[in-house]
Amino acid sequence: MERNTQQMFELARHFIPGGVNSPVRSFKGVGGSPLFTRKGKGPHIFSEEGNTFIDFCLSWGALILGHAHPIIVKDLQDAVKQGTGFGTATRAETELARLIVDAVPSIDQVRLTTSGTEAVMSAIRLARAYTNKNKVLKFSGAYHGHADHLLTKCGSGAATLDIPDSAGVPEDFSRHTLTIPFRDAEILHHTIEKHHQDLAAVILEPIQGNHGLNVPERKYLATLRELCDTYKIILIFDEVITGFRISYGGAQQYFHISPDLTCLGKIIGGGLPVGGYGGKREIMKLLAPEGAVYQAGTLAGNPLAVTAGISTLKWLKEHHPYPILSKNTGYLERECNQLLQKYHYPLEVHSHSSMWGFKNKRNKEGARGVFLLSFNQLFHALLSQGVYISPSAWEVNFLSTSHTQKEVSQTLDKLEKALKKIKEE
Ligand SMILES: *Cc1c(COP(=O)(O)O)cnc(C)c1O
Repeated sequence: MERNTQQMFELARHFIPGGVNSPVRSFKGVGGSPLFTRKGKGPHIFSEEGNTFIDFCLSWGALILGHAHPIIVKDLQDAVKQGTGFGTATRAETELARLIVDAVPSIDQVRLTTSGTEAVMSAIRLARAYTNKNKVLKFSGAYHGHADHLLTKCGSGAATLDIPDSAGVPEDFSRHTLTIPFRDAEILHHTIEKHHQDLAAVILEPIQGNHGLNVPERKYLATLRELCDTYKIILIFDEVITGFRISYGGAQQYFHISPDLTCLGKIIGGGLPVGGYGGKREIMKLLAPEGAVYQAGTLAGNPLAVTAGISTLKWLKEHHPYPILSKNTGYLERECNQLLQKYHYPLEVHSHSSMWGFKNKRNKEGARGVFLLSFNQLFHALLSQGVYISPSAWEVNFLSTSHTQKEVSQTLDKLEKALKKIKEE
């Protein structure tokens, strides 16, 4: 087998559309051949070509304990000997569900799926059944997986009916989806008051992480909660990134706002494919087999995936790493910004808890283009120094518990070298 990235990519492209099984991995935004990873350990990944990187993408946030954490590896080794799946109930599923219910106060019951996309799709189906209404309101910049009716953008910038953002989605499919700007209370009021009679749910990432890092004020979320109560609309927090990331109880615990339904993914699978959605018993009981809302999965609650989730949540519960994660991320943010300023580089880093990303320093005409070009240049300069960040300017990065002060300092050294190199070019 080829070990040269370009050759590996060509071969992959022959057999897999675009060479990847998820588009953003392809480096299409930043250019060049994508990374082929051979293995990971702690904060590091090792490429097929033999290079080592400090990894801040961390499987898009799933790996809060870093790569191949010894406890997860050990628990998975024990579990795999018992069989890889049965398609029956297992006690491990109850254990993971119980850990989630204990951690997240708004969740009485949780149903496990194999991805975040499925969790979101199913939560919306459930909200529609519970309210007997059709429309769903979401916010621009948010990503909720790739379900047809959520792959939309706003037609005119106001809350008009959405048009599909992907080929292959009939316009009809997004007829019930509305999108408005995030963090604008006036538009929120107006839209909900106008559409509430047929509005089943409002779905949001309580902290947006898929289009830059966007943190709302608590007041905005409280307003949203009130409006949903007034008009009997189901409030869905998509905590696929923020769950067990912002705090052990997710962003809802941090903001003290209780949604009706919560979607989870990423961290609850400890790096294996798991999603989940949960909420009040009164709503969850509508799910089949108890109720009339159908949702299923051959591999849902798979014993290996559930085992990795249990090990991760137990570790987080016991060690409570959130203050130290925030502290290290805050330090990384401040020091990165000092360096970016020193080299007059037109990017800025910002962070929240252990999520961090880049933002546009200038807010002028044409700034978006400069932002993207600067990001791409820095991405490649960092890559050649041995630092892997998400290959998209819009995606956030993460810190894991395996990123110690040492890796953070090394990253800052590498950033300075990267900036020097860019300047010399
Ligand atoms: C990753 C993500 C999803 C989709 O999860 P998949 O497991 O990729 O299907 C949904 N919502 C948010 C906020 C995400 O970050």
